[in-house]
Amino acid sequence: RSASSEPSVTTPARDVSSPAVLGSDLEVPVKGGRLVPYANLDYAASAPCLEAVNAAVAAALPAYSSVHRGAGYASQLTTARYEQARHTVKAFVGARPDDALVFTRNTTDAMNLLARVLPEDATVVVFDSEHHASLLPWSQVVRLAPPAFPGEAIRAADEALSQIDGPALLVVTAASNVTGELWPIAGLAHIAHRHGARIAVDAAQLVPHRRLNLTALDLDYVAFSGHKLYAPFGAGALVGRADWLTQALPYLQGGGAVKSVADVVEWSDDPEARHEAGTPNVLGAIALAAACDALSATGWTDLVREEERLVARLREGIAGIPGVRELSLWGPDHPRVGILSFVVDGRSARDVAEFLSSEHGIGVRDGKFCAHPFVRHLLGTADGGCDDDTASAVRASIGIGSTEEHVDRLLEALRSLAKA
Ligand code: PLP
Repeated sequence: RSASSEPSVTTPARDVSSPAVLGSDLEVPVKGGRLVPYANLDYAASAPCLEAVNAAVAAALPAYSSVHRGAGYASQLTTARYEQARHTVKAFVGARPDDALVFTRNTTDAMNLLARVLPEDATVVVFDSEHHASLLPWSQVVRLAPPAFPGEAIRAADEALSQIDGPALLVVTAASNVTGELWPIAGLAHIAHRHGARIAVDAAQLVPHRRLNLTALDLDYVAFSGHKLYAPFGAGALVGRADWLTQALPYLQGGGAVKSVADVVEWSDDPEARHEAGTPNVLGAIALAAACDALSATGWTDLVREEERLVARLREGIAGIPGVRELSLWGPDHPRVGILSFVVDGRSARDVAEFLSSEHGIGVRDGKFCAHPFVRHLLGTADGGCDDDTASAVRASIGIGSTEEHVDRLLEALRSLAKA
């Protein structure tokens, strides 16, 4: 086969039955002009779409009209589908009956929305290990160093919250986008509530890998992105307590967010409509809901078992390659999702990532993963900024559609690099 032909189709072997993803048949050119099956190990950046998502969008397209305001049949149908999507996504994260779900563009947008609806005198407590989406939007903020062990996260949050007068919000990731490590969110929720504070969880990297139940964990807010959850770009959600949403000025001001407009504008009392002015991303919401449905229908047990098998294989392999070091905050035994970052002695992260792509058809991410303070902390380096390649790492991440062959190909490529 030559690289000049169009990407073509092969059927990848899977060890368990799981929802089919689009693009698992992609072939990519490597050096010498050969085409090889693409080993997508970059799920943490954006996951491929499920076929079920594609089908749901295709089914919605023929009767496509603006939501909420039209009397026509297509408008009513689209409105019903949009509101059904809201209902499905709420159920997917175990929302309480009186929680609100505002469709956003992504997690970043959801966290910025939350920053806008906070009570004016609220203080946010956040660890420096957060993704920038959860680290940066706050104006009054206490930033804590990445904790040395999970119990230290709880102790540090406890101490910080005890010093705050007035409303407070603890913002924390459920699973790190750098190390994949799971955070003790139930314990942190308990501490936050003991201080009368709220907790918002960045679930961008958790929901593609594990079931999340907001009610059982007693979380006040969760935020996540459709494009990491096997749906296309452009739709995410903020789910949680309605009161701050209802009290604050709308995030976006315009049609749909109002009750009446005369000399004085009366904003909608509906916590969802109030923050979704303008024509929403209906197809994005339908796609996101279809992904939630497909994951729920599969059940998590098989998905988690297969992921853990592949992650164990990857981590053991990496541990056995001289000069390759996995980054970890809480050590090798702490539970994690299918995300692993590493550095290779004597090689820049960019060189490693380019080598993996151009020689082996493997897609990984390199850099600081929008978590500059955290990567700096893990590497123990001073950071020269975005383009400082000496303070960067390589990240491999897996999900539905990842195979043993992908993992083994990465390990083989790293072994060859270590020997070179
Ligand atoms: N939070 C975490 C943990 C992430 O991994 C990401 C994306 O990488 C984000 C937030 C931001 O997501 P988005 O770019 O979809 O807004």
